[in-house]
Amino acid sequence: MGTHKIAIIPGDGIGPEVISAATEVLMRLTTIEASLDFETEELDWGSERYLKKGHMIPPGGVEALRSFDAIFFGSAGDPRIPDHVTLWNLRLAICQGLDQYANIRPARLLPGIEGPLKGSPEIDMLIIRENSEGEYSGAGGRVHSSLAHEVATDVSLFTSKGCEQVQRFAFEKARGRKQKKLTLVTKSNAQRHGMVLWDEVFESIKGDYPDIRTERVLVDAMAARMVSEPESVDVVVASNLHADILSDLAAALTGSLGLAPTGNINPEKTTPSMFEPIHGSAFDIIGHGSANPLGAIWSAVLMLEQLDEVSAAQKLMQAIESVCREGKALPRDLGGQASTRDVTDAVLESLENPDS
Ligand code: ATP
Repeated sequence: MGTHKIAIIPGDGIGPEVISAATEVLMRLTTIEASLDFETEELDWGSERYLKKGHMIPPGGVEALRSFDAIFFGSAGDPRIPDHVTLWNLRLAICQGLDQYANIRPARLLPGIEGPLKGSPEIDMLIIRENSEGEYSGAGGRVHSSLAHEVATDVSLFTSKGCEQVQRFAFEKARGRKQKKLTLVTKSNAQRHGMVLWDEVFESIKGDYPDIRTERVLVDAMAARMVSEPESVDVVVASNLHADILSDLAAALTGSLGLAPTGNINPEKTTPSMFEPIHGSAFDIIGHGSANPLGAIWSAVLMLEQLDEVSAAQKLMQAIESVCREGKALPRDLGGQASTRDVTDAVLESLENPDS
């Protein structure tokens, strides 16, 4: 498969702690999987750079990322800077700049992990989030600043191309799954323009996928169903805002935010995709050595899949599953006592001795 060139952006908060753990695991994988190799470059993009130099990404930085095969990202967020500034100047600048229009968020209750739901129902969902427009398009503005009649707007923006490309991606993903079922999440009863287009596009393309069962569910009903009947949920495609919220719910249902992975995908592979744990900077635990690295390590599995390193991805996922199943090295957010180091060592040990 050759050498994969990876840009590593640890970012803010606990990002550097979990990304260095996951990078160590990836490097160990190259000694186990003979054909796998990485060339990495670490970039100091984030809030510290912003406070010192006035920008999180150096000029031309997003364009320079195009020469990489993938991006491995930690987190963006710092109490000294407003959240919308960090998000838009770092993570969203990369996602939009590189046309990573599909965000994938698998949520699976792994053996050994106790979720908050009674009876531990089987949970295996794949939430696909429209990642470049919708409610987070960035369109809008403020006028009459500081006056009593100040106005602010955030415009939800839906294009037929944007709807179609992410929905087709979701149909393709559903094809690779056991249930072969795709749920379109909507709110077209209340949002009568963009969300109606979102629904119409779905209706117009679903005939191309006769092997996939489909349904349309309102976002509020979907939130309830994810809790009351999670086993009935397979692949879900939702707008930027709706999937943002539903995927945090899914992460909580499968144990912890610290375990959940994500990928910002350019399905055509014309630009590199970016992989990151879904948790944020978690400033309350920075430097404690207790951050759960499994969300970052699972994100590395998604990165390996995108790089077509199927065997390495399977080995790493099995190592994560075995650490969870054995339960000896679970971090605090999953009910254990293990430190970031202990969890990382357990994953490395399981990679080296998969059958023990
Ligand atoms: P941001 O504003 O950057 O999104 P945040 O600190 O508001 O970050 P999260 O980082 O998403 O929110 O997480 C909320 C809480 O969950 C954290 O404060 C932390 O206590 C816990 N948490 C999140 N990620 C982890 C992790 N990897 N390991 C352990 N605990 C975590």
